[in-house]
Amino acid sequence: MLPATFVTDIEQIVGAAFVKRDEAARTAYGQDGLKQPHLPEIVALPGSTSEVAAMAETCHAQRVPLYVRGGGTGYSGGAVPLLGGVLMSMERFNRILEIDEQNLLVVTEPNVITGRLQAEVEKVGLFYPPDPASLDESVIGGNIAECAGGPRAFKYGTTKRYVLGLEAVLPTGEIIRTGSKAVKNVVGYDLTQLLVGSEGTLAIITQAVLRLIPKPPAHATIRATFDSIDAAVEAVNELIRARVVPATIELVDGECLAAVTRYLGGAALAPAGTSGLLILEVDGMARAVEEEAHLVEAACRAAGATELLRAATEEERHELWRVRRELSPALKTIASMKINQDVVVPRGRMPDLFQLIGQLRREFNLTIPCFGHAGDGNIHVNIMVDGSDADAVDRAHRAQRRLFEGVVAREGSISGEHGIGFTKAPFLSIELSPEVIALSRRIKQAFDPHGILNPGKIFPSTSDAVVGAAGLSGRRPVSSRYTGFMPLTVAVIGASSDRKKFGNKALRAFRDRGYTVIPINPKEAEVEGEKSYASVLDVPGAIDLATFYVSPAVGLTLLDDLAKKGITDVWFNPGADSPELVARAKALELKPVVACSILGVGASPTAY
Ligand SMILES: Cc1cc2nc3c(=O)[nH]c(=O)nc-3n(C[C@H](O)[C@H](O)[C@H](O)COP(=O)(O)OP(=O)(O)OC[C@H]3O[C@@H](n4cnc5c(N)ncnc54)[C@H](O)[C@@H]3O)c2cc1C
Repeated sequence: MLPATFVTDIEQIVGAAFVKRDEAARTAYGQDGLKQPHLPEIVALPGSTSEVAAMAETCHAQRVPLYVRGGGTGYSGGAVPLLGGVLMSMERFNRILEIDEQNLLVVTEPNVITGRLQAEVEKVGLFYPPDPASLDESVIGGNIAECAGGPRAFKYGTTKRYVLGLEAVLPTGEIIRTGSKAVKNVVGYDLTQLLVGSEGTLAIITQAVLRLIPKPPAHATIRATFDSIDAAVEAVNELIRARVVPATIELVDGECLAAVTRYLGGAALAPAGTSGLLILEVDGMARAVEEEAHLVEAACRAAGATELLRAATEEERHELWRVRRELSPALKTIASMKINQDVVVPRGRMPDLFQLIGQLRREFNLTIPCFGHAGDGNIHVNIMVDGSDADAVDRAHRAQRRLFEGVVAREGSISGEHGIGFTKAPFLSIELSPEVIALSRRIKQAFDPHGILNPGKIFPSTSDAVVGAAGLSGRRPVSSRYTGFMPLTVAVIGASSDRKKFGNKALRAFRDRGYTVIPINPKEAEVEGEKSYASVLDVPGAIDLATFYVSPAVGLTLLDDLAKKGITDVWFNPGADSPELVARAKALELKPVVACSILGVGASPTAY
């Protein structure tokens, strides 16, 4: 529990009516679009920038983790309060302050729903292009913190292109203003752009100045179908060669179409045999739109389109987009678990990316429906598995790692839209060099010396103070180091070459999630290609965590070795946590927890 005096301090800042402590509120605010909840200790709803500042200052002074939440639609767990502490919901910051038609900009508070802001500026003939598919629920602050993209990013760019200036509160409580209302500004470091995409780890955005453009007066929507994904991708290349820039080029693959057909009870939304579908929109002045629409159709035909439809009315436009809207509910019916990645490659490498995905489907025997923003090379790769099937989950994680390695090898990135949060943190080093990670951590420290703002995301918080404060809660987090930042080193005690054994599955589960693994087993020279050691004492480098798969007879001595090596965090798997081992671990002043290493590395570890 947080100290009562701390809670009183927060109540005095925002008013007791705006602090929620009941289970229902904590549960509601404890998860985002990812659906991997962690409960905050309290939820607070500040109503002004000065209240935000006072809250930050208090959390900083008392080393309490502070998490900021916008619309709560994030897909990488950005707003999830991993270490408990305080969840700051920005929902009272919901006013559009000024639409400046002369200077083509809008000044807004962060928790205005994106779709509402768009509708308001469109009333005066202006246009805010960033359009994440979540725009009816996500808010401007969350979009800025994640640098949200969407279908229109191909022509109009992502959120970063539209942020001119910010008011923000640092984790220490200072209020800063970055940028300005002017479209040009080269004074000092570009802190505005540093905060864009910083995933709520550097500062709390309390106001934004956003650039607008005139609303395009006309648009045309075209849907093209192809008998292969390669032909659909080739149509995109044809468009580029024709120098046409549609506002959107959305791609849907055959596995997605099959899922939608099943979901709709057999009603196909595309001709039989379709394995690739493009939804394209061009916009601008009416005559230009007509010319561009012809060019788009010609490019699709040249690539072998099997059917071309152009919407004549708004209803028809709605119908052409229907397949895209039905996708999300349709995928939910395929399997209980969806590992949803948003990888991106340079546009020209898309055929290569689809080749890789095909290879992963075959090699790991997985269903992987894909769709995405083809104009940007940004593809949503959905690995669908039965979450109760340990083998399938294991294959999915191995495929995921290969996907990440594959996109980086193809000069792409592991995330084009959803950010790192805590889900992709263990994979950061696949893409970023140690130098870049180290520099980024120094930047984080300059903003947030005590590591209180959004700990557990992107980079490791080494602040034990934070863990200490969070540790006041009943569900003690294992350690801030396990909340998913960096590849950590895990000793798998009892690792085995036998793929049916848990000691083997756990080793692969950790490795596939980005951890460095060290098998400990005197009877094996190597396990899964990793050199095996008789004891942790023989391992040359440091080890962060040990996970146990041995009987008490062998385990007691090995626990002693952990203590000698200075490893304090020990995971026992449910069912393998014999009382003798746990008692011994406690006597050695280790920190034993029960945590299943195979199905959910790091998920809900529970202290004894
Ligand atoms: C159905 C669906 C479709 C989606 N489609 C897209 C898409 O097309 N493109 C896309 O890019 N994403 C998409 N997403 C992901 C998600 O909607 C975006 O990442 C969005 O920008 C998150 O906004 P939010 O308001 O929900 O933020 P939250 O989930 O509340 O928070 C996201 C991050 O922003 C931080 N944050 C929130 N408010 C502030 C603030 N005021 N100051 C500082 N930090 C803050 C949080 O701490 C967290 O780290 C989709 C999600 C869903 C569920």
